[in-house]
Amino acid sequence: MSAEFNPVIFCDFDGTITMKDNIVNIMDKFAPPGWEGIKDDIMAQRVSIQKGVSKLFALLPTSQKEQIVSFVLEDAEIREGFGEFVQFTREKNIPLYIVSGGIDFFIHPLLEPFGPFDQVYCNESDFSGEHINILYPHECDENCVNQGCGCCKPTIIRENTAQQQTSIVIGDSITDLEAAKLADIVIARDFLLEKCEDLNIPFSPFTNFHDCIRIIEARLNV
Ligand code: MG
Ligand code: ZN
Repeated sequence: MSAEFNPVIFCDFDGTITMKDNIVNIMDKFAPPGWEGIKDDIMAQRVSIQKGVSKLFALLPTSQKEQIVSFVLEDAEIREGFGEFVQFTREKNIPLYIVSGGIDFFIHPLLEPFGPFDQVYCNESDFSGEHINILYPHECDENCVNQGCGCCKPTIIRENTAQQQTSIVIGDSITDLEAAKLADIVIARDFLLEKCEDLNIPFSPFTNFHDCIRIIEARLNV
């Protein structure tokens, strides 16, 4: 590894490690009509991610826990090359943080076959009430311009990137946008890719994790 390039990776989960967004999948299947309005408000930044996600899960009764959990675990599909990508980061000794606006009850079981991971940041769930309550153990620090990220990726990047390190953000959607603005290198697909184009944030596109390996390896070999 060249002395100048000392990367640390911050990788999104929903729609990045998995093919689709698991929160959207859950809502599609279990939420009453009208939930799309809340999703649209989140995507258009009319409501904070944290408020929007809380509102969405508050639509779901905890009596459906078992159906919801088994549905999302069965339905989720891991993006091609993720296992090789994890292996690659281990071989090259690149710290890999999984930072997600998704929820613990699907993230931990879906990651398990590829683990163990030391650094997984996500939201948590509380099924003790009548409706699902989402907990946010990784909220925005005072430097986050967004406030209301839920799981604040810029805060996590700031806390875990040393001055001489190069931060790499891999993501697909609105929850990655503030992180992408902060990152040294952005690897993007889908909505995040369009946003990066709109805002003139330099990025490399990806469709699978073989692409991500290739993009990072090219930098390692400079
Ligand atoms: Mg995502
Ligand atoms: Zn934030």
